[in-house]
Amino acid sequence: MARAAVSGRLTWRVASVAENRAITASARSLVFDVPGWPGHLPGQHVDVRLTAEDGYSVQRSYSIASAANGDRVELAVQRVADGEVSPYLCDVLNAGDQVELRGPVGGWFVWRATDPAPVLLVAGGSGIAPLMAMIRSRAEQGSRVPFRLVYSVRTPQDVYFADELRQRAREDAGLDVHLVYTREAPEGAPAPKRIGVATLNTHGWPPDFTPNCFVCGPTGFVEAVADILVALGHDPRRVRTERFG
Ligand SMILES: Cc1cc2nc3c(=O)[nH]c(=O)nc-3n(C[C@H](O)[C@H](O)[C@H](O)COP(=O)(O)OP(=O)(O)OC[C@H]3O[C@@H](n4cnc5c(N)ncnc54)[C@H](O)[C@@H]3O)c2cc1C
Repeated sequence: MARAAVSGRLTWRVASVAENRAITASARSLVFDVPGWPGHLPGQHVDVRLTAEDGYSVQRSYSIASAANGDRVELAVQRVADGEVSPYLCDVLNAGDQVELRGPVGGWFVWRATDPAPVLLVAGGSGIAPLMAMIRSRAEQGSRVPFRLVYSVRTPQDVYFADELRQRAREDAGLDVHLVYTREAPEGAPAPKRIGVATLNTHGWPPDFTPNCFVCGPTGFVEAVADILVALGHDPRRVRTERFG
């Protein structure tokens, strides 16, 4: 699969929307059928290209949220209110509509099931997308590598894939999920706060376990979390980041 993923990465393919459903009030899951999809590694992304009738064309990157699964690719798109592309993907595309898609792209921000190191995933908002692909791939491949997810969201309503995450964490002792709320916390949870040293000390892995750390979200979030991890003693080479801009 890895070889196919490399050779097919520069090809634009016609992708048809199989499903477009809400995952939160401001984000949608888009599942595409992509004939000839070469497969992907969890953490990789695709470029999506839209072309208007007058030839105007625009493209954006989106992380793949699904584990490799035949010709299907799932994206999790956050609607940026004044954005050019994301409102179109979220609100205009219907089942059967077509876009062009190129990928998979990226070879650094990927998790390989053959790597036995424990994994720390730190997501902010839609940054959960590539980390979800890792969680799903781990389950699909029957991996026992221990995973910890620290996921920062504004409110309980903003958790992507909430039911699935809850169920996976309940059924799999090797997967810990810790939610951090920045604006409004549910009853019984600690007051809203941002991820800090204490959070990652408690819910991450000690640096001497030499975990692989994957951090994804908006640029400011990623930089703050990566700085904390390095200050806690994690080897910067094991702190991999993906910035959504
Ligand atoms: C590797 C990678 C993976 C990504 N994965 C995901 C993902 O899984 N899910 C996801 O939701 N997003 C993801 N993104 C972000 C995504 O690519 C888009 O940036 C996002 O969807 C916004 O695109 P847009 O066209 O809707 O907004 P844009 O039109 O690009 O606008 C974005 C913001 O920038 C502002 N802006 C635009 N142009 C200007 C300008 N000229 N001057 C000042 N401000 C301006 C807009 O007001 C808006 O607030 C990823 C990005 C990267 C690089």
